[in-house]
Amino acid sequence: LIEARDVTLAFGETPALRGAGLAVAAGEIVAVMGPSGSGKSTLLHCLAGILSPDTGEVHFDGCRIDTLSEPERSALRRERFGFVFQFGQLVPELTAEENVALPLLLNGTRRAAALAEARPWFARLGLDGMERRRSGELSGGQAQRVALARGLVARPQVLFADEPTGALDSLTGEQVMDLLVGSARDQGTTVVLVTHEARVAAYADREVVVRDGRATSLTGDRIAS
Ligand code: ATP
Ligand code: MG
Repeated sequence: LIEARDVTLAFGETPALRGAGLAVAAGEIVAVMGPSGSGKSTLLHCLAGILSPDTGEVHFDGCRIDTLSEPERSALRRERFGFVFQFGQLVPELTAEENVALPLLLNGTRRAAALAEARPWFARLGLDGMERRRSGELSGGQAQRVALARGLVARPQVLFADEPTGALDSLTGEQVMDLLVGSARDQGTTVVLVTHEARVAAYADREVVVRDGRATSLTGDRIAS
């Protein structure tokens, strides 16, 4: 469904990706692991069309996406992808429920309907009573769960999640992963998640390791569909 081929990307003099390739089949849940600074987040941003590689190609659903214009890529992200950023990145001016509803609002859903879809996620994620808080009034773990709800609310075809349990204790992390994987299986969502925790990676169908800007699948690359 989604594939990076021989992708390189440098930030100025710093090479972040040096020929990374990764193919993810529809419905698959893939965990991306590897040392800090190895290029995991950068690879995820390339797959999701947030960054454009310097060389190499990114394909989604049979189309090359790295050469699309920024408006085309942002439409693709809005309509097909969900993204949970490593550091949450909630909009501070909005309440938690408005943050969760945001992808729906951007897709043209009316405010009342978007908020009605956003609210059940608070109970699911153990966030009852947090709906009206702004991100500055949430703990790191609460903000991370709000960010996850925002990633899932529009039922994306692909969810990209960068360390979705990084700020959570192990019990909450397991509950969040149960919910993430459960929702993904129910909705047929393909998931690419970055984690440094083996217990989190164990939820995935397959693990990929990124080292020095190159990706290796631990179980052999599958053909993208
Ligand atoms: P971590 O596990 O710490 O999140 P990571 O594997 O996600 O690390 P990346 O964030 O992809 O690593 O970074 C890969 C390399 O690119 C690192 O050397 C990092 O310092 C560099 N880098 C990442 N983002 C930028 C940026 N915006 N500007 C400059 N350098 C960057
Ligand atoms: Mg990272």
